[in-house]
Amino acid sequence: MEHADVLVVGAGASGGVVTGALADAGFDVVCLEQGHWPDRTDFPALRPTYELEARGGWGGNPTLRGKPEDYPVNETGSDIATLMYNGVGGSMVLYAADWPRLLPSDFRTRSLDGVGDDWPLSYRDLQPFYERTDRAFGVSGLAGDTALPPGAEFPLPPLPIGDGALRMARAHDRLKWHWWPAPNAVLSRPYQGRNACAHYGSCMQGCPEGAKASTDVTHWPNAIKAGARLITGARVSRILTDARGLAIGAEYVDTEGRWHVIKADVVVLAANSVGTARILLNSASPRFPDGLANSSGLVGKRLMVHPFANVTGYFDEPVDAGGHVGAKIVSYEYYETDPDRDFVRGAKWSLAPTGGPLNAALPSRAGNSVWGKDHHAHVRGHLGHSLSWCIFGEDLPDEANRVEIDDSLTDSSGIPAPKVTYRVGENSRRLLDFNIERAQQSFAEAGARRTAVESLMRFSGWHLLGTARMGDDPATSVVDGWGRAHDVPNLYIADGSVFVTSGAVNPTSTIVSLALRNTEHLIENRREQRIPG
Ligand SMILES: Cc1cc2nc3c(=O)[nH]c(=O)nc-3n(C[C@H](O)[C@H](O)[C@H](O)COP(=O)(O)OP(=O)(O)OC[C@H]3O[C@@H](n4cnc5c(N)ncnc54)[C@H](O)[C@@H]3O)c2cc1C
Ligand code: SF4
Repeated sequence: MEHADVLVVGAGASGGVVTGALADAGFDVVCLEQGHWPDRTDFPALRPTYELEARGGWGGNPTLRGKPEDYPVNETGSDIATLMYNGVGGSMVLYAADWPRLLPSDFRTRSLDGVGDDWPLSYRDLQPFYERTDRAFGVSGLAGDTALPPGAEFPLPPLPIGDGALRMARAHDRLKWHWWPAPNAVLSRPYQGRNACAHYGSCMQGCPEGAKASTDVTHWPNAIKAGARLITGARVSRILTDARGLAIGAEYVDTEGRWHVIKADVVVLAANSVGTARILLNSASPRFPDGLANSSGLVGKRLMVHPFANVTGYFDEPVDAGGHVGAKIVSYEYYETDPDRDFVRGAKWSLAPTGGPLNAALPSRAGNSVWGKDHHAHVRGHLGHSLSWCIFGEDLPDEANRVEIDDSLTDSSGIPAPKVTYRVGENSRRLLDFNIERAQQSFAEAGARRTAVESLMRFSGWHLLGTARMGDDPATSVVDGWGRAHDVPNLYIADGSVFVTSGAVNPTSTIVSLALRNTEHLIENRREQRIPG
């Protein structure tokens, strides 16, 4: 039977970072990934239909995509549908590569605002890891953002923001509102053997150039060179434990339907906040009847996804927002709590393009399509004439928002599938409404002819967080401050499940920085690690 020092489940953002660090340190590490290597020559960016394909086989929702490597999610009881990519590189293959950090206040919302909980670490603890992962992934940005504490320079200069973003920036200067060029995990220059961004604008259907950072490009090739073994088409059904309650490995099924067991001294889950909760709950046993590592009852609970609203401004004049699809500029003007408002915490705004010709012609961020005699005028008025403020609201943790195992739904291997229940809370609704009004004001100041509002986007569950939160107290958290399960001392969680609160920023830079910090701690403390006999 196969054996490894460490078994990692999931080859996405966190799985790539964890496996790379362990392989570099000389560990025998195996990663099981249910999907496959993405084929860059088959990315829709190379075809004029890329925006149509994003509405089908290249969309982000695994249930609608329905590929054999995907698992379905029952989200009939959810206001927001989850999005992910299942393959090497994980959801980064489809992500927009916005790369902001959490702010210092995000780690202390209980102390500051009486909501959520404080993290068992601070921004300062994570700062050196943010800087190192910025270098490893190749982040383009401009140092000195006044909303953030002073930090290191980005390894690459910022991407061009275009005259559209400049127009919005000038409007914010007049309003005396914050703005800053957005950091992006997209190369503005050639870097570490990778090409610079070629401005296809199809980043969310995969980057054929390799300019957008995802671990299949940035981490896996080196991890494999360093000796890591990556087994693709390997779907984990459950984590196995011994009589002492230690993890001894996992059971998985390959694409031919053959079942296998792999043994390991340490297991690290990196399957994202839905996938990891699903595996833990599916790993229930007589010793762990409510699921593995779940004595707190919190596995699967406190799911946070960042409720998302979109305000589009339309201009008579052409506005250039070309290039990558991620944020051009960001605004943290309404990020922090203001006691004069009827909600706590706040939102981050990212200014993004509204898409290409097919998105202008069809219902999308660029507006609802108009068919018939006015169609051409509609497309002309939208394409190259619109910009979007993407409003990411802080999501307060709520135990009612959760991942469970569905009673009857299974994936293509017959493994029970997850059910997600998520409702937008009262605080989030007020927060979004307030920020929508301010975003309209921002466009009015910039001279937009009109704005259109999407007050809650259903297919916006990009950021999957919180279903196995970290904390010092085993009664109120699933893992400790280093990602180690309180109940199972050789089981670790490395993905966004461990977030205590969500902040209001795109989470991947924090996920990978935490994953690096916690893996290095595991390596440093390996002599104290309890392992199965
Ligand atoms: C369309 C889209 C846009 C996004 N835009 C941004 C953005 O601009 N900025 C940002 O910060 N974040 C963005 N995100 C979110 C970002 O992609 C995620 O935060 C990040 O990838 C999460 O990393 P992870 O390691 O937790 O999980 P993932 O990267 O999702 O990796 C999990 C991996 O585990 C595998 N897996 C799951 N279950 C099993 C199993 N049972 N057996 C074997 N393997 C399994 C999956 O196949 C997958 O490859 C976006 C996401 C999407 C989908
Ligand atoms: S715009 Fe840049 S990052 Fe996006 S797909 Fe094209 S080359 Fe890749």
